[in-house]
Amino acid sequence: MSTAAENPNLMEALVSLAKRRGFIYPSSEIYGGLNGFFDYGPLGAELKRNIRDCWWRDMVHRRDDIVGLESSIIMHPKVWEASGHVAGFTDPLVDCKVSKQRYRADQLFFAAVEVFKGITETEGARTVHRVEGSSVTEPYMAAHADVEIIGYVSALESERTKEELQEKAEALKRKKSAKGILHAVKVREFTEATPEEIPLIPSPATGEPGSLTPPRAFNMMFETNVGALKDASSVAYLRPETAQGMFVDFKNVIDTTRVKLPFGIAQIGKSFRNEITPRNFIFRSREFEQMEMEYFIHPDADWLACHEEWLKWCQDWLRSIGLPASHLSLYEHPKEKLAFYSRRTVDIMFRYPFGVQELWGIAARSDYDLQQHQKHSGVPQTWFDEATKQKVVPHVIEPAVGVDRIFLAVLCAGYAEEDVKDEKGNVEKRTVLRLSPRLAPVKVAVLPLLKNKEALTNRARALYKKLQQRYAVQYDDGGAIGKRYRRQDEAGTPWCVTIDFDTIEKPGDTFTLRDRDSMSQKRITEAELFALLEQQVY
Ligand code: ATP
Repeated sequence: MSTAAENPNLMEALVSLAKRRGFIYPSSEIYGGLNGFFDYGPLGAELKRNIRDCWWRDMVHRRDDIVGLESSIIMHPKVWEASGHVAGFTDPLVDCKVSKQRYRADQLFFAAVEVFKGITETEGARTVHRVEGSSVTEPYMAAHADVEIIGYVSALESERTKEELQEKAEALKRKKSAKGILHAVKVREFTEATPEEIPLIPSPATGEPGSLTPPRAFNMMFETNVGALKDASSVAYLRPETAQGMFVDFKNVIDTTRVKLPFGIAQIGKSFRNEITPRNFIFRSREFEQMEMEYFIHPDADWLACHEEWLKWCQDWLRSIGLPASHLSLYEHPKEKLAFYSRRTVDIMFRYPFGVQELWGIAARSDYDLQQHQKHSGVPQTWFDEATKQKVVPHVIEPAVGVDRIFLAVLCAGYAEEDVKDEKGNVEKRTVLRLSPRLAPVKVAVLPLLKNKEALTNRARALYKKLQQRYAVQYDDGGAIGKRYRRQDEAGTPWCVTIDFDTIEKPGDTFTLRDRDSMSQKRITEAELFALLEQQVY
């Protein structure tokens, strides 16, 4: 079996499978595509819907303390002034004046190439360090030997940023025929480059220094105009997050429902960010979908315990949709890098083929958002505490996750290529998507053994029609049964049901149930099939 770690071409294989089988297409492909935008094909639309549905059922329907919301995508522009997005929703942008490429300064790394003037030699089993001919100790070398900066190297963020910079440093040393010992590179973010260093750092596009601009703040919100006039007064924004909908409707929800603190408002919907460098397929796109929940708590509540509870809930949920614990980890944002209103943010990270990256952010946002909206709108954003007879502005714990990032994680974790034997014993390759039955786009494929034998097709059609009332199922009578199994393996269908001669000739009305992962087969009745689905698809 090949997995992310073993298959360096996993992303390529996934992108190809996604296109071939109708999970994901580039948007507007016949016009050459549009960078950062994607379409979800027939199987993709199902998988995405299942991710949303599972989250909604578990987050909203199956809890007593959370209600749903669907707010508009374009909101009053003042919402984004109050939230801080107009002033501060920026990424540091760097231009390469020669190639016209743009980079995010926090995803561009560089290092000074430092060469110790001393030399290190091996004498028999000994390593000897010398500065200008005299032998010195290693600590002396590190502390005293003169260091010369012979140039700079740069690389984009990746799993191998450090190695890449080191390799480039070695290449530069060779190119310049510099004498001495190359120091291990100290990786720095482009945001930390001094004005003197910027002209010396090579552009990743050209490999030459002198063309990169200093970073400047670039607001990522997409602007549009509302109404017939196109001037400053009609400017509005496509929302960059769904969260503000929950804050702006906080009052409406408490006034129209019976919620009491602590309670949450959840929303699933599209968000838009004019990302400088959309990349890694659907991981970072410009139009994406978020599933966010704002959990409002009393200002005196134990926010840390609540944050921990949500952190656990989110990890458990990811495992419940089939993501292996081995691919998940936590990243605690260092205190000094937290937004000023955040008390704590922990990201659940996923091991994607292109590196360990943020999947789900769980932030303790204090009462910042409600306070801001109270200030900017003049409308009190308070909840009346019956116990103390006081009005309080609640604090918030926010788990925010991207549907597309879960989608990609699920594909990465589920994809496998295996050598299997066909009916004649020949070894062939099978591609399989091990999707959890909860998420699989097709739950069951109904396959009549032969397509021109009416007794078989009638029974198969009847079963198919019955299943179709409750589940997404497929009827497939095209080609050899082995081929049909392979087709379903690639689509991630957990079970195939074959209607064969035993079904129609033997008592019991049983079918062959073939399991996608083990490829084992057993006989099963219709009632047992429905019971299996009831238990596994929830
Ligand atoms: P990143 O640091 O990766 O840009 P972020 O910290 O800005 O993400 P949040 O603002 O916390 O992200 O958004 C919550 C979630 O929305 C993220 O954890 C991620 O799953 C998803 N998300 C954010 N930006 C994108 C994007 N451009 N494409 C797809 N999903 C995204």
